[in-house]
Amino acid sequence: MRKVITRFAPSPSGPLHVGHLLAAMQARRLADAHGGCCLLRVEDIDQRAQRPEYLQLMYEDLEWLGLRFDGEVLVQTQRFPLYQDVLTRLREMGLLYPCFCTRSEIKAQVAEMGRAPHASLGYLYPGTCRRLSPDAVAEKLASGMPHTWRLDMRRAQDMIGCPAWHDLHRGTQRCVPTLYGDPVLARKDFPASYHLAVVVDDAAQGVTHVTRGEDLFESTHIHRTLQGVLGLPVPLYCHHSLLRDNAGKRLAKRDGARSIESLRTAGYTREAVLESLQAALQRGGIWQV
Ligand code: GLU
Repeated sequence: MRKVITRFAPSPSGPLHVGHLLAAMQARRLADAHGGCCLLRVEDIDQRAQRPEYLQLMYEDLEWLGLRFDGEVLVQTQRFPLYQDVLTRLREMGLLYPCFCTRSEIKAQVAEMGRAPHASLGYLYPGTCRRLSPDAVAEKLASGMPHTWRLDMRRAQDMIGCPAWHDLHRGTQRCVPTLYGDPVLARKDFPASYHLAVVVDDAAQGVTHVTRGEDLFESTHIHRTLQGVLGLPVPLYCHHSLLRDNAGKRLAKRDGARSIESLRTAGYTREAVLESLQAALQRGGIWQV
């Protein structure tokens, strides 16, 4: 049997949070249960949101929590040339198109269609620029108009159909590429998006089991599509439920009181934090500290 490889993949766009601790524990425990490895990956490609002090704090928090990871830490900002190669491949396969719409234009287009934003994926792109004529595209590109690159999910679906993936909690799932619009794979300000980088890196690191919060469940349709068109191995998925407060509201990053740093400075010990997490899980994910 293949060795189990899991990963914890935080984006250091704020201090680590008890929700991150849950995600890290899930990955570590699953690896340990199978005598496997748990890798650490820093998902820092969104450089507008990152600050070096958060990265430093993340390492300090992980150390304080006593969380161990195996092998080398992979840092996504060091891998842009690799993501660029994959984008070139996708473009040559005819699966990407430039999108010139701004965020507010997309918002207006979605509102006009009478649709609300999707809970986890936001404003699903209705494919406006997919319908531009080749001449219009050439003209806009030549004028230097800012653009993103989107994955044409219709073409992807023509190519791979609706492949399956397996979720350890939810069983076999059918991926429907066209379900959530055409996602951005490269942005105006940096040449990769979360969706592209996560798929490339899970494959590059040989990840066999992706553990992550259920808020990313829909994104798996996008990731499975990319794996299909790129011919990459398909890991098993395990989308776990998220921690909530007493009112049932999801704990968010901006909720500083639940940061590991604030618990540390308030005098909690590592054991107390881990016990609180265990207690929260027994209460169905309600965090009460
Ligand atoms: N970087 C993402 C986050 O911090 C997790 C991505 C993933 O596990 O696929 O929410």
